[in-house]
Amino acid sequence: MEVKQAISEITSQLPATTRLVAVSKFHPAEMIREAYDCGQRIFGESHVQELQAKRATLPDDIQWHFIGHLQTNKVKYIVPYIDLIHAVDTPRLLQEISRQAERVGRQIPCLLEIHVAQEETKYGFTPQECLAYLASGEWRELNGIRLAGLMCMASFTEDEQQIAAEFSTAENLFNKVKKEFFAADPNFCERSWGMSHDWKIALQHGSTMVRIGSQIFGERNY
Ligand SMILES: *Cc1c(COP(=O)(O)O)cnc(C)c1O
Repeated sequence: MEVKQAISEITSQLPATTRLVAVSKFHPAEMIREAYDCGQRIFGESHVQELQAKRATLPDDIQWHFIGHLQTNKVKYIVPYIDLIHAVDTPRLLQEISRQAERVGRQIPCLLEIHVAQEETKYGFTPQECLAYLASGEWRELNGIRLAGLMCMASFTEDEQQIAAEFSTAENLFNKVKKEFFAADPNFCERSWGMSHDWKIALQHGSTMVRIGSQIFGERNY
């Protein structure tokens, strides 16, 4: 019941252009099933083994998104079914996803993770690195992937102005990248930003996907 209420409360506030990724990491398959029964179909996980185990017990029409830091040696386990990989943070990871996807005859949509937060531990391309990588054109040779947009995480802070500034950096970068590299590609359209504590701010900065966990499923027990 709580899951159901949380989902309808969130989805009723999302514009038609923004999708909800229900972040189910560390929560059991039964809770995913509860959200599924409310009509939720997109679920985000950030650990390969956990995803593999849950997926085996759940309906086939779930769209699984990988939202966490992905190690290159784990890519092969998820390429047969993953619908979107959010946090591609190095050219090498993108190459490996493409290589493994080609082996199974798939083309996997990927988002480049942009480092906008002040915390030093966050992964991702800086805006400059992102522009330089796209300008290199390397990604154009990768037939197993297609770039579908950008992803970011804002700083974990109460300071809403700082969060807004970080999302704004990501939004401006998206607009620039779209214009310079993907003007003719309607598939490059996703802006994955916004979590439980900051998704309303993210909506004001062009988010097309909010990744929400604890607000739906409660606190996680790590
Ligand atoms: C865990 C996680 C989320 C969801 O976080 P909540 O604060 O529980 O909404 C979103 N994005 C990423 C990348 C995550 O790892």
